Amino acid sequence: MMAMHYLRLSIVAVAAAAAGCWTSPTARSPEGPINRDNRPINFSNTNGTNAVSTNRTSSANSNTEMLEKKGFTANLPADFEQPTDDVGRKLLREYGSVFVARGGAAVPLKVVFRDEPEVAAFQGTMRTSTASIGGFQLTLQAAAMDALRSAIEQAKAKGLTISPRGADSAKRTYNETVGLWKSRVDPALVHWVGKGRMTKVDADRLKGLSTFEQVKEVLRLEEQGIYFAKDLSKSIIYSVAPPGTSQHLSLLAFDVKEFDNPQVRSILNENGWFQTVASDLPHFTYLGVKEAELPALGLKKITDSGRTFWVPDV
Ligand SMILES: [Zn+2]
Repeated sequence: MMAMHYLRLSIVAVAAAAAGCWTSPTARSPEGPINRDNRPINFSNTNGTNAVSTNRTSSANSNTEMLEKKGFTANLPADFEQPTDDVGRKLLREYGSVFVARGGAAVPLKVVFRDEPEVAAFQGTMRTSTASIGGFQLTLQAAAMDALRSAIEQAKAKGLTISPRGADSAKRTYNETVGLWKSRVDPALVHWVGKGRMTKVDADRLKGLSTFEQVKEVLRLEEQGIYFAKDLSKSIIYSVAPPGTSQHLSLLAFDVKEFDNPQVRSILNENGWFQTVASDLPHFTYLGVKEAELPALGLKKITDSGRTFWVPDV
């Protein structure tokens, strides 16, 4: 028997891709409970490996390669560890566009990093570039930084600026994502204890948990309407990424100060940067392709708050 598994049988469904996979922008579905049946939440993909996939660099002007593979899952890196639990799947749906990034981007092979050493190891595998932008020293993957520089130049020619919102607008470490998480969780606990929805004892117990355990507990409470986003009316995952899941850990995300300007958004789009996390308006993700190629990566367009977001079509 020949080594048949080396043969990739790909059906090139160009006609279907051109005609069938596109749907008009749809409104976001309501936020459902994260772990409906209350099974223990078990973040998969946390086995300590720090594998990284560098997707083949594809010319932003050619989509021949991408049309060979249809659907979001088919466009994930070959060794990607699919989440097997509800929370992992939810996080992949909400934050997963980054995993099909092209244009020289290296992407993680798992949805959730467990701790700082895992993130540091991953970040150590890639080619990065650091630049002073808007008064901040920012680090991104080199390909993402190149594209951002082009966008900034293009904006400048039109009398516009593209600048970061702050010092943490690009690369983040795991511990920085823990800090952001706590900045939402701690005030929310005070609020819900004040409202009589939680006891002080329960709140203190939650604060004492490891971050990884705390994420599960917080998402469980949100199923009961005890929300942890900054405005306390929706899930925390639409406010900050649970530690270990942020696209900023992949060095492929950039928070833009001028996100309200449609011309700025358009220039970023032209340079491979797109909004991929619905309701996180300043947050852009480097996907490294032209907008017309995004459907072939298994992403779908949704509009929310007058903005266009490209999210996994799953
Ligand atoms: Zn961001």
